Amino acid sequence: MIIIMKRNASDTQVNNVVARVEQRGCHVHLSEGEERVIIGVVGNGRPIDPVQFERMSGVERAVPVLRPFKLASREFHPQDTIVKINGVSVGGKELVVMAGPCAVEDRDQILEAAHAVKGAGAKALRGGAFKPRTSPYSFQGLGTEGLKLLAAAREETGLPVVTEVMAPEMVPLVSTYADILQIGARNMQNYALLHAVGEAQRPVLLKRGMMSTMEELLMAAEYILSHGNDRVILCERGIRTFEPYTRNTIDINAVPLLKILTHLPVIVDPSHGTGKRELVAPVSRAAVAAGADGLIIEVHPHPEEAMSDGAQSLRPEQFRELMDGLQRVAEAVDRTL
Ligand code: PEP
Ligand code: MN
Repeated sequence: MIIIMKRNASDTQVNNVVARVEQRGCHVHLSEGEERVIIGVVGNGRPIDPVQFERMSGVERAVPVLRPFKLASREFHPQDTIVKINGVSVGGKELVVMAGPCAVEDRDQILEAAHAVKGAGAKALRGGAFKPRTSPYSFQGLGTEGLKLLAAAREETGLPVVTEVMAPEMVPLVSTYADILQIGARNMQNYALLHAVGEAQRPVLLKRGMMSTMEELLMAAEYILSHGNDRVILCERGIRTFEPYTRNTIDINAVPLLKILTHLPVIVDPSHGTGKRELVAPVSRAAVAAGADGLIIEVHPHPEEAMSDGAQSLRPEQFRELMDGLQRVAEAVDRTL
């Protein structure tokens, strides 16, 4: 960080800033120009919040040189992180497709979905047991019963399961059944929840908030990493724009940009990203072409009867076609499926 002092800053003001920098365990590199003093802060490896210096008298600006996220940054960890989950690796050469219904609805539905997606080549089963719904009158998920059904589907198919956890106090319960803890878009900045999953012994699928910047997403990942959990998978699931034809707008930029900024694996959710079944396959192909490490896709045995997100859910045969079509795109970008 560089601290630029005001033109008329006194020696005392400069000395106070220097003292505070040293208090924070950093060294100072002083540059006394004709017009003003510039203080270079040589860090101790931890990012420093510039605001604490900007408030000091005599300071004009404090400019961070390093990115505010460290553990998530590519500079800190140049090689790609591969997140391993019960025999499945996310972030390597092989693409990982997670698929299943928006919500677990009953035993037959989740088992049928699990067998169908496995047959088509999915590597993990998704399904919400606790659902974050806009309306309190909408189906809220089966709760613990849904978790048990997911575990039964894993038992039958061998697929690891990914499911959302909505509150810090629910992390132990959801971790008992789930292989991957999903943080939903609405909770991306729930810092108590990020802290809790940071201490959990399960990988985390962190979805981008619907109005979040790349930096906010990476700072959310930083919370999880800084609490000791290094198994974080990022998910671009579309952001809210002015376009009403689609539910959200997939930010395809996010994929190659995140691959530059961070070492963490990046997957795309074309189901929530578009809200429309007919857009899911083409957007999946775009995501893989852009460098995504995988996809998470909603598939329902009978989408017309789905209790949530039926309009964006694929029928099993459509999912199979999607997987077939993805094969050639994967080869074109030197990935396997
Ligand atoms: C979901 O995966 O079903 C979901 C609610 O996603 P998001 O948090 O991205 O809206
Ligand atoms: Mn959904």
